[in-house]
Amino acid sequence: METTAAAETHPSRDAWTSHLRSHGRRVTKQRLAVLDAVDAVPHATAEDTVQQVRAVLPTISVQSVYVVLSDLAAIGMVSKFEPPGSPARYEIRTGDNHHHAYCISCGVIQDVPCAVGHAPCLTPSEDHGFQLLSAEVVFRGICPSCQHSGAQQDPEAP
Ligand SMILES: [Zn+2]
Ligand SMILES: [Zn+2]
Repeated sequence: METTAAAETHPSRDAWTSHLRSHGRRVTKQRLAVLDAVDAVPHATAEDTVQQVRAVLPTISVQSVYVVLSDLAAIGMVSKFEPPGSPARYEIRTGDNHHHAYCISCGVIQDVPCAVGHAPCLTPSEDHGFQLLSAEVVFRGICPSCQHSGAQQDPEAP
C-alpha cells in the first residue's frame, strides 16, 4: 500500500489552515495529517485513515483519529457517507452534492456528479412538511472490473 508523504508541502494546506481557523480550530499536526490522509485516499474508512495517519504520526491513537474525523465532518471539511452494509467512508470533496456508485462485489466506490447540481436533487412524492436539505443517493451495482472477472474468471486477462 502506498503511503502519503504528508511532510511535503501540499497545495491544499493553506486552504485547510484558513478553514480550520475560521471555525476556531487550532491548526494541529494531527488535523493536518488526517486531512492529508483523507485527501490521499478518498472514500477511506476511519480504520484506513488511522493506518494512513500512523505512517506520519505513529503514536496517534485510534480514538484521536476518530475524534478529529468527526470534528472535521462537523465543520464541513470532510464529508462522510455510509454505503449500505459497509463502514462509513470519508472524503475531502464536500459541498458539491455528489453521489456515489458502490460495487456490491468488491466495494469499490466512485464519485457520481449530481445530476441536478444542487441539493436536494430528488423531489419526494411527500415531503411531510420538511424543509429538505439533501437527498443521499447511492447507486449500487457491479463495477466494470467485477463484471469482467465474473464473465471471464481469468486473472491474467488484461
Ligand atoms: Zn467491483
Ligand atoms: Zn465521493
